[in-house]
Amino acid sequence: MATATHGYDVIVIGLGGMGSAAAYHLAARGQRVLGLEKFTPAHNKGSSHGGSRIIRQSYFEDPAYVPLLLRSYELWEKLAADSEREVFRLTGGLFLGPPDSLTVAGSLRASREWSLPHEVLDAAEIRHRYPSFTPEPGDIAVYEDKAGFARPELTVQAHIDLALRSGATLSFGEQVLDWAETGSGVTVTTESATYHADQLVICPGAWAPELLAKFGIPITVERHVLYWLDPIGGAAAFADQPIHISENSSGEQIYTFPAIDGPEGGVKTAFFRRGIECTPDTIDRVVHQHEIKAMRDRVAELVPALDGPCLHSATCMYSNTPDQHFVIARHPDSARVTVACGFSGHGFKFVPVVGEILADLTIDAKTAHPITLFDPQRLVADDNSIA
Ligand SMILES: Cc1cc2nc3c(=O)[nH]c(=O)nc-3n(C[C@H](O)[C@H](O)[C@H](O)COP(=O)(O)OP(=O)(O)OC[C@H]3O[C@@H](n4cnc5c(N)ncnc54)[C@H](O)[C@@H]3O)c2cc1C
Repeated sequence: MATATHGYDVIVIGLGGMGSAAAYHLAARGQRVLGLEKFTPAHNKGSSHGGSRIIRQSYFEDPAYVPLLLRSYELWEKLAADSEREVFRLTGGLFLGPPDSLTVAGSLRASREWSLPHEVLDAAEIRHRYPSFTPEPGDIAVYEDKAGFARPELTVQAHIDLALRSGATLSFGEQVLDWAETGSGVTVTTESATYHADQLVICPGAWAPELLAKFGIPITVERHVLYWLDPIGGAAAFADQPIHISENSSGEQIYTFPAIDGPEGGVKTAFFRRGIECTPDTIDRVVHQHEIKAMRDRVAELVPALDGPCLHSATCMYSNTPDQHFVIARHPDSARVTVACGFSGHGFKFVPVVGEILADLTIDAKTAHPITLFDPQRLVADDNSIA
């Protein structure tokens, strides 16, 4: 096994959504960065693929995310300009359901708390403005202009390109086997080499239980399915739709995108939280007929015009923490290791700001961004603090 002793300041493990952003922000701030990724750039085996990701600001999960989203949007614009790629697009967003549902009440709460521009529409107004949707009579919706979608593969590629342009060394097809902190730095062992650096950033996605076993952070990996349906009457009627999330009276959430990939591309839809526990090694990549039927049955209730044949489908993994909030932190006992994981199926819209935060934590040992919610200590019992 070759041993490389290059003088890197930082090694980033995992160059998916978060790791590629971290590599870019670190390199742009003058750090000598080595990025290690086991697959190819912008691959489809983790959590950052499938053509689109919803972005929104009226954040029903918790208003504490809003300041991070405001900064993320600034960085989305900068990323689009610097990379000259359409990494995101605003389409407006419709968050629909019973007034007391998490989707509606939570979106409204975040909008009001942060004075985000929004409208509240009743069922008649929803049907009038968006005839494809057939809400229940008592449903309402929060409409937000600033919602839209990001392009995950383009985003990862943009961060990779900009990181390389800023001088980072990025190695693909190189799997990390182990990492350790030594008295004078960190050591990372891959299949082909051992590397040394002052600092380590670990962005493992669904491989967190493997790569962060020493941390004891409880993360459950789930298989999720994306469906591209061919709307009855063609995709044109869906070309200018807002992105949309709706919740029914049982609390089940589904989401849809506009038809963003032309007339043949279909309309992407999925259940937000109806995954099956798996590991990256055991995930079933086959999408079954009964799953397609369940998706179409749900779509038929709310967006009947979308209930056409499934053109294609894909699987993707969520890495859930017990409370579905992220983990972004320096290791409490180590001045050299920073982690970002447990994005629980809603992390992509934060990719640019997470890159910035990871660079702050690595270079300055602190960040001005509000990340208390993401402290991993909340997930471990008091008498069992993270080792
Ligand atoms: C179906 C689905 C829909 C989603 N929808 C949305 C949405 O609409 N809006 C939103 O904001 N978010 C959404 N998300 C969540 C979002 O996409 C994720 O939170 C985000 O992509 C996570 O990025 P990551 O960097 O943590 O993981 P990844 O992008 O998977 O990156 C982890 C990387 O680490 C690499 N790696 C792991 N182990 C090793 C090793 N040993 N050596 C080297 N490399 C290694 C992996 O190969 C991978 O590239 C969705 C996710 C899914 C699956």
